[in-house]
Amino acid sequence: MSIKTRFAPSPTGYLHVGGARTALFSWLYARKHGGKFILRIEDTDLERSTQESIDAILEGMTWLGLEYDEGPFYQTHHFDRYKEIIQQLLDQGDAYYCYCSKEELEQLRAEQMANKEKPRYNGKCRDLTGPKNDREAVIRFKNPVDGVVTIPDLIKGDIVVANKELDDLIIARGDGTPTYNLTVVVDDMDMKVSHVIRGDDHINNTPRQMNILKALGVELPKYAHLPMILGSDGARLSKRHGAVSVMQYRDDGYLPEALLNYLVRLGWSHGDQEIFSIDEMIEHFALENVNVSASTFNTEKLLWLNHHYIMSSDPAHVARHLSWHMGELGIDPSEGPSLVEMVKAQRERCKTLVEMAAASVYFYKDFESYDEKAAKKNFTPGSDEVLARLHDEFSVVTEWQGEALHQIVVSLAEAMELGLGKVAQPLRVAICGSAVSPAIDITLSLLGKEKTLARIQRAIKYIKN
Ligand code: GLU
Repeated sequence: MSIKTRFAPSPTGYLHVGGARTALFSWLYARKHGGKFILRIEDTDLERSTQESIDAILEGMTWLGLEYDEGPFYQTHHFDRYKEIIQQLLDQGDAYYCYCSKEELEQLRAEQMANKEKPRYNGKCRDLTGPKNDREAVIRFKNPVDGVVTIPDLIKGDIVVANKELDDLIIARGDGTPTYNLTVVVDDMDMKVSHVIRGDDHINNTPRQMNILKALGVELPKYAHLPMILGSDGARLSKRHGAVSVMQYRDDGYLPEALLNYLVRLGWSHGDQEIFSIDEMIEHFALENVNVSASTFNTEKLLWLNHHYIMSSDPAHVARHLSWHMGELGIDPSEGPSLVEMVKAQRERCKTLVEMAAASVYFYKDFESYDEKAAKKNFTPGSDEVLARLHDEFSVVTEWQGEALHQIVVSLAEAMELGLGKVAQPLRVAICGSAVSPAIDITLSLLGKEKTLARIQRAIKYIKN
């Protein structure tokens, strides 16, 4: 069997963490088995679907690197096909017009609730015969009344649902537009989807979709329902748990591979391994190893993974992502030291690229003012003289290179009979604006001679005033 999976988001918001995990698992399954992965935008809800949201989904998929082999398909382009299938179901007696008014249905519902019954359509129009009359009608699928539907779920095992629990579902609204369960079924069938991997919030739809597919006489796809993701308080993950949009994680300074590694472990495991390269994820991924129960989102762990990837990835790769963050801060990184060298200098102390960008700005652009505490502590009487002597020595250096510069600092401290900190710290505050920076030799060599000398002069002036 050729394997085909799909990610089928409704464009009614951004690409959120739960959606991204569904996309990742579907993508991994296809990649593992030499199959195809489809992106299908389910935009038939014209009121709630927006172009902005479509763009956000596409942007999120690209940022995560979840490339699709087919699509993006748009369900709004398939209306004729849905109509055709609805007509087929009507013609073969598996669907019927239902003329029940809203009021009638509401009354039915109220009665069922009063009798403590599950609200469901009573099938009043099910056996009407003859062509459609002039009254507005929806079209319902004639669900079998007897027997059961068994979902052989690849994660949760067999799930058995009695047909009498399922009422006759509306497949076309009064205005003729198809509903979700119908469009999904038609597309999964036409696109030859072999595995439907999606969140378990869709479990209630699955037996209905299986019944429609059976009525159409086609082979059923395999189903795998992923467990929910919970916030740390045990409630279903939602906006109120903080950044749940994938692009928010980019904005907050995460690398896509950190988020992917984090997401793959949300509900799936391979022994006790925590770190997975993309290749390892593909190699080891198996639906059998997806947990049955919900998993909890843990921001600390994501941060830990992010730092791991910042530290261990090729600095040139990290630099490409850092460059975007520098741009966000209004910095053109070509106007300063190499970002690759910057990554090497900063990666140990920065858990996110936002932190790294903020800690790197002064290499590219003069800082506005000194950190007050650092200036107070380190710009003391006499430190102007230290800085003046450093300035003299640095000005004659021809080869601006970290180790030699460090030696100048050490020798000056010795010559002036000062502790190293009494020389290095005023220098650090002078050139960085604060008392925190990479090692002084690295800081000096990255900053370059011209900026170093100018900033030392600026500090001397500041101290004298
Ligand atoms: N469009 C549905 C959603 O965004 C998913 C449909 C499916 O995966 O079958 O929830």
